[in-house]
Amino acid sequence: MAKKILMSDPLVSEISVPFSQEPFVDLINFDSEIIVDQSLSNRSHYFSFVRLSVAEKLTVAKKFLPKDIRFLIKEGYRPLHIQELAYERSIQRVKENTLNHDLEFLRGEASKYVAPPDVAPHSTGGAIDLTLINSNNIELDLGTVFDAIPHETENATFLDAKNITEQAIRNRQILAHALQSAGFVNYFTEWWHWSYGDRYWAVMTNVDQSLYNPISEHDLQEQF
Ligand SMILES: [Zn+2]
Repeated sequence: MAKKILMSDPLVSEISVPFSQEPFVDLINFDSEIIVDQSLSNRSHYFSFVRLSVAEKLTVAKKFLPKDIRFLIKEGYRPLHIQELAYERSIQRVKENTLNHDLEFLRGEASKYVAPPDVAPHSTGGAIDLTLINSNNIELDLGTVFDAIPHETENATFLDAKNITEQAIRNRQILAHALQSAGFVNYFTEWWHWSYGDRYWAVMTNVDQSLYNPISEHDLQEQF
């Protein structure tokens, strides 16, 4: 069983972040067998962009999926200004649901579903949120809806949750096996969140620096 480290843990923010020259690519036209869900709103214009190696690793990972099952990408790149808003909202939401207003506690709880901006994986181009679809493009049962909130599902969003159906457990195993085989690491509170090269990945793979720094939407605009 993998270590359970929260995104708010100092181990994550202590990882150093060198500047990376690695380009971003758009998953919408990277691999015809990797499908991007373009129906969701409230995302960056560049939500389908990730670092080149991340896209290449998805192409490796898909080979570990059973025939007729494919990845459905929900979100890759997310700019810091969206992350900051989401994090503030999640802190407020936790506050409304608890009498414990200790800042460390609030940060820990909030970070179970929104990463603190200083370690935000999606802003580096190293993280992806994704699920599985069948040959009719129907999403498989992964136990909870994508982006559900842990404490509102009795933590059924946790990758190793047992309070989901046998079928959903099997589907999570399919997802995890494929992504882990290609070198991705999961954030344990969210079955859909996987990353490579960000600070959280560095902690989980015991390396002392990340591969990717966060980049602004403005920097992406200048490239694409
Ligand atoms: Zn995510």
